[in-house]
Amino acid sequence: MKNKLQKEERWIAMYLRVSTHGQFEKGYGIGDQEIQCRKYLDLYYPDSKIKIYKEEGKSAKNLERPKMQEMLKDLRSNKIRVIIAFKLDRLTRNVPDTYKLISEVLDYDCTLVAVVDRLDISSANGRMLVGILSIIAQWEREVISERTIAALVEMAREGKYPLCNSPFGWSKDQNKKLHVKEEEAQILNSLCDMYLEGYSLEEMRVIIKEKYNFTRTPTNMKKLLLREENFGHWNFRGEVYTDIFPPIFTKDKYKMLREQLLHREIHRNERKRYYFHRLVYCKCGKRCHHEATRKKTKIFYYYHCPVCKVRFNQNKLTDAVINEILLYIREHKVNNQIEAINKSIIENKEAMETLFHEYQVRKTLDKDNYNFTLKQLLKREKSLKKELKKMQLNEIDQFKALSYEEKHDYIHTYVSKIYMDPERKEPITIEYKSDKVTNLK
Ligand SMILES: [Zn+2]
Repeated sequence: MKNKLQKEERWIAMYLRVSTHGQFEKGYGIGDQEIQCRKYLDLYYPDSKIKIYKEEGKSAKNLERPKMQEMLKDLRSNKIRVIIAFKLDRLTRNVPDTYKLISEVLDYDCTLVAVVDRLDISSANGRMLVGILSIIAQWEREVISERTIAALVEMAREGKYPLCNSPFGWSKDQNKKLHVKEEEAQILNSLCDMYLEGYSLEEMRVIIKEKYNFTRTPTNMKKLLLREENFGHWNFRGEVYTDIFPPIFTKDKYKMLREQLLHREIHRNERKRYYFHRLVYCKCGKRCHHEATRKKTKIFYYYHCPVCKVRFNQNKLTDAVINEILLYIREHKVNNQIEAINKSIIENKEAMETLFHEYQVRKTLDKDNYNFTLKQLLKREKSLKKELKKMQLNEIDQFKALSYEEKHDYIHTYVSKIYMDPERKEPITIEYKSDKVTNLK
């Protein structure tokens, strides 16, 4: 292609959108969307060229929006390397459009990122989503005829709930009108209150099961809480209805809940960049805080003692403890292969001792025979040790090849605390979840 820009010259397209009747969306106005997108870009694409496509007063019922069209034109001219939006629904609101957009993005060697949905189609998971979307899109085209949809929309316009099963929190009467189901609404309200009080979803799962005998997974509870129906909004086939769902809690409460969820999500994403998150302690007894600094394009992670005012670099700490930790994990898992090699090395040593005894003390062997056998045994020992070393090396390489999230999870599976010496800036002890303690040096 003639006017194809070099990969690094291509810009990042930031798409921001608010719709006309987006009263509720005030909390996620263009400004907030931009701040969240920029936070993400600062971390993953620092110092990149950004072009903003700001769409105001447009809904996402199709792709016929001026800024969307401008962005698609730029995409097709190969000018864009990443498209970023605060949320996928800023870009599209239905499956066929989403699929259309993602296919084009892939065709032009571009990537799509939705900050809150944690969607990144440069990853395997993201591409799997594309596959799923294409199947749903096809299914939607084939199964639901336009006529059925029109009938359902007509019912919704009359204030009726046109779908079969009434959602959790409401019941449907003979006229297809929804009413709040008190006992279910109570569960939703107490979930909401607990979350705002700072409970984790996992803690809520346990409490709510005990109190109401209500079992849902944390993900499922999150989904329930985030439904716009909870404050009386219902988005059905691109239109918002406000007279179908009687609200279970207020819009303000919903907004607070959503902000809290977003805040925790973004924080969680960050947290895993500290492989030893909450595990590092100073010799003085204080748990270390976490902080990051950026130099040019690299980010450095530190653990620092607020009392001694000393900070420990994550990379240095990893180098100092990772051998020990891997050694422990290997012992803990009882790696049969390595055990077998170690056993062979010991047996080999014993054979050498016997050989020497036979030759020197019992004199049952002549010199040639002794030398020949000894040479064989030494050769075997050398190759066993080489094999052992290769396996140990492999483990470190494997660890280094993990993603930051995997490193974080791997370490947190086994390690419970690491104590640091603030003067020498070195680790002193590693404590494991099994209560075993390793002293370093
Ligand atoms: Zn300290």
